[in-house]
Amino acid sequence: MPETPDLVVIARYLQEWVVGLRIQAVREFRPLALRVLTPDQDASLFCVGRQIVAVTTRAKFLLLTLDDARYIAINFMLAGALRHGTPEQPIRKRDYVAFVLDDGSELRYHDPRGMGKVYLCTDLDAVPGLSGVGPDALAPELTLDVFRARLRSHRGELKGVLTRGALVGGIGNAYTDEILFRAGIYPFRRVHTLTADEVEALYEAMRAVLHEAIAVLGERMGDEIDVRVRDFLAVHNKPGQPCPRCGRPISEVKSGQRATNFCRHCQPGSLIRQ
Ligand SMILES: [Zn+2]
Repeated sequence: MPETPDLVVIARYLQEWVVGLRIQAVREFRPLALRVLTPDQDASLFCVGRQIVAVTTRAKFLLLTLDDARYIAINFMLAGALRHGTPEQPIRKRDYVAFVLDDGSELRYHDPRGMGKVYLCTDLDAVPGLSGVGPDALAPELTLDVFRARLRSHRGELKGVLTRGALVGGIGNAYTDEILFRAGIYPFRRVHTLTADEVEALYEAMRAVLHEAIAVLGERMGDEIDVRVRDFLAVHNKPGQPCPRCGRPISEVKSGQRATNFCRHCQPGSLIRQ
């Protein structure tokens, strides 16, 4: 699932290559991913002839702003991806929808798991999953004081609170593991047990880990905006490998489909004690 660092780098690529272009056609290869949130539900009527004026990110969404105050809001979920290519490229089995642009290129949405959505809308609050999310993890207005105050109204385990989106937007399973490792905090700590120093460490780790990841991805992703680069992460998806700080094996705790990776030595804690 793309998280803030991936999304920021994808947005930067698209700012360079598609902002200023107009949409010439919408090609829908498979149903269900494209959702037109207008009464007529007509995708062509909605965006053909419209110019892409900005590409930004919000929570786990990529937002293409069109002129006339319209949006293409993409929620990639687990496996969705955008590819910038041409209409001549062969249609793959799990290609869902493409926007043909007036320079002859095409933005195509592909999703092996079929869970993501491409919303066409005029009101972002109408997009499922976008209303009720907290400020983005890197938003300038999310100062340490604001973060501390927001944290007070959340209960439960840190891992869940950080990934759910209501506290801060844009971080998911991968970067939450990285942030908690950097901060040296056990992922299943109850939020209300954190000391003031730990909250500050968590906040600083969040900002540092995300900024550093953006720098790495900016170097490595290039035009392959459909590929998730995660091999440089310290603990996420590396169970059994040596902790980069202490060398002991990285642990994994599974909960449903989701795995949490951390170092029991560098991030001490226990489920029972809390
Ligand atoms: Zn360690």
